[in-house]
Order: sequence, then C-alpha cells, then structure tokens
Amino acid sequence: MSYATTLNETHDPSLTSWVESANEENCDFPIQNLPFAVFRRAGTSEDYRAGVAIGEMVLDLAAAKGCGAFEGIAQAAVSACDNPELNGFMGMGKEAWGALRLALSRALRSGSDTEDKLKPCLICMDDVEYKLPCRIGDYTDFYTSIYHATAVGKLFRPDNPLLPNYKWVPIGYHGRSSSIDVSGQTFKRPKGQIKAPDATEPSFAPCKRLDYEMEVGIYIGPGNDLGDSISIEEAEDHVFGICLFNDWSARDIQGWEYQPLGPFLAKNFASTVSPWIVTTEALAPFRSSWTRDSNEPQPLDYLESEQNRASGGFDIELEVQLETPKMKEANEPASHLSLSNFKHSYWTVAQMVAHHSVNGCNLQPGDMLGSGTQSGPEHEEAGSLLELTRGGKEEIKLDNDETRKFLEDGDTVIMRGWCAKDGAKRIGFGEVASTVIAAD
Ligand code: MN
Repeated sequence: MSYATTLNETHDPSLTSWVESANEENCDFPIQNLPFAVFRRAGTSEDYRAGVAIGEMVLDLAAAKGCGAFEGIAQAAVSACDNPELNGFMGMGKEAWGALRLALSRALRSGSDTEDKLKPCLICMDDVEYKLPCRIGDYTDFYTSIYHATAVGKLFRPDNPLLPNYKWVPIGYHGRSSSIDVSGQTFKRPKGQIKAPDATEPSFAPCKRLDYEMEVGIYIGPGNDLGDSISIEEAEDHVFGICLFNDWSARDIQGWEYQPLGPFLAKNFASTVSPWIVTTEALAPFRSSWTRDSNEPQPLDYLESEQNRASGGFDIELEVQLETPKMKEANEPASHLSLSNFKHSYWTVAQMVAHHSVNGCNLQPGDMLGSGTQSGPEHEEAGSLLELTRGGKEEIKLDNDETRKFLEDGDTVIMRGWCAKDGAKRIGFGEVASTVIAAD
C-alpha cells in the first residue's frame, strides 16, 4: 500500500471540527478534506499566502504557523506555506504533506486545545480572493477519456475515430501555462483562422464554436531530474493533489489548425483552475480499481503495476453547469449540463506520470497535468459542448428554455467536483467558474 491509498486517523468519518460550518452535511470542506489554496483578503493589498479550507472558513497558514500546533517536519511544512507560491511546499514530498495534514486535523478537531490560538487565524471564505496556488512551470494536457476521444474522433474523422496509438500511449500535448488563471477569470472570445469544411480558404474572425472541457488538473510534487524517470510504483509520491480544470477550446480554430502537430491557438488563450487543491492523501478513501478488458491491448510494463490495478483510479464526480446572461439578470440558478466521473478514465494518474517521465523528461514541483476532457460512457455524461451537441448539430435546451450549441458572450461555465461513498465522509473540490466576454 502506498501512502496515497492508505487510510489513517485524518480520514475517520466520525471526526468533527470546532469550526461548526465544517460539520454541516454536504459541506465541501469537512475536516477530512483540508485542501490548499493561495489567497488574501479581497480588495486588499495584503501578501498572498496559503490557506486551508475548513467549512466556510479559510485557515490562514501564515498566521497559524506560530500558534504552537506544529512541530518538526510539520512546522517546516507550514512555514513553507507562508508564501504566495506553493511550489516549495509541493516539492517537500509526502512526509511533509502528511505531517502537516495530521497536525491540521488534530488542531482543528472538536476538543483541540489549540482552538483559542487558531480562531483568530480564520477568515470567512466569502471575504477572500484567490490566485494561482503555485507557479505552473509546465502544463501538459492529456486525453485520457476514451469516450471523449472516440466521440470527438468521430466528428473530425468519421471513418477512423480512434487512432491506433490511443490504446497504447497516454496521449498528451504540451500546453501553455502563462494563460492558466484561477476561478473568477473573464477572458475575451479568441479570434483566429477559421475554415468551414466546404470553404476553399480560411477567414479571420472571432471564434464561433467556443467550448469548455471538464477536466481535472494534477499538481506535481517533488518530480524527477532531467534524464531520470519516475516508475509507476513511485508515481503517486510525486502527485501533490488534484483541482478542477476548465480547458477552454475554440473548436473552429482547432479543426483547421490541429494537423499535423496538434492543438495550438485553439487552446492557449485561456484555461481556468479551481482555487482549491484537494490533496492525494485526502482522496485516499475514494480510490477505484483500474482494469483493461482482456480483449484490449494490455499496458506495456512501465505502465503496469499491481497497485495501479487495485486502486489507480479516482472516484470523483464532475458536474458542469451553465449560467447565461439572462439567468443572471433574472436571478435564476445555473442550468445543469452534464455529470461524469474521473473513474472512467482510460489511463490513471500514475500512468500519466510514469509515461510523461519515461523518456527522461523532468517533472518539477508545481507542474500541472490536465486529465483531458472527462466524458463518461453515456452521451449525457459528455464533458464538452462539442459532444453534447454532436458537433454543433443539435441544440441543447437549458432550464430557462434558452438553447445553446456553443458558448455565447457573457456565459459563465461552472464546474463542481466531489467524492462520496458509504463509509467515508463526503469531500468536495468547490468550484471553478469563469466567463467569456466579447472579442475586441
Ligand atoms: Mn483539454
């Protein structure tokens, strides 16, 4: 058993916190979660620093580090969190992450003797603003949902939807990190070269087929030196945690530019992460087995392990909602678009990490891997509009009777994630929400 799948006292579903809001049913941030973000009080020029979510509050780790609740490696870890970038803490590895999690769990528990000291370090979540939790040096986007790959492949290549390498190689491409921002972001509709299939030449125009992609983002911990590689057995020791990730996509730009080298300007105008990173350790109760049917290609040795078969998957529910300008005006709730689950992924996180580094490519603390759009086996579980509208051929109807094929200016896409199962305390990821505005 690796640390990433081992249950310990911090996962005990009976634990409660002296922060009352953390004990409410269906709270995303009970004491069993303890995710990390980088924040400050909204509208101030305070330094950004790390916080941990507990109920409706943020525990300010810069303020808490001197409270006496931490010692040894946990004290070193909490001190590393007094920083506007979590790369240092991420690079410290599982002993430091685990020690800080245990110390935080004990300090925030009902009956803890540090309650009086920590109370002044709590800030209401409604009163904070976030930034990216770390410097994302490099970002790679994978393509791990075979349902997404097949559905999209059918639209682009009806006779040949799934290319022959798909079942052997965890497919990915190097994305751009400079345009990744945190939830709350607005971005301009991208412009670019667009060519309709029946047109003889492309034109230059604002994208008309703007889409989202429901993904999870995977933050790398210590990583490997250039020339070394990370084995699949060690892979999860290098995974700090998981966030929600919206990989905005301009489908009409993509269709024209993507061959032969893959996505470029269709993807790099904006991508949005949730502020909160749920640690791999917090996700331990929600691991799922991973299988490959015996009539399918079996993974090559470097992508194969017993541990990966037993518990390589993550059972994370992923929901997408759309809030249109009309809904905002009428104060109506956002409309549900889809619900899927990361456990359907064709490749696991450990396989992504092992594959990415097998050639000696160095992964570094704070690097991010996108999972690729997480579509489930059913049509209504699709993680993009491209799939839900069958390539823009079918309108989808929203709760207020508006319709959409692709996103319109002023639309806000909201993604939520959570883990729930019998015998474990439900934990959530919060949300990632961002809005497209008109092109110049
Ligand atoms: Mn993507």
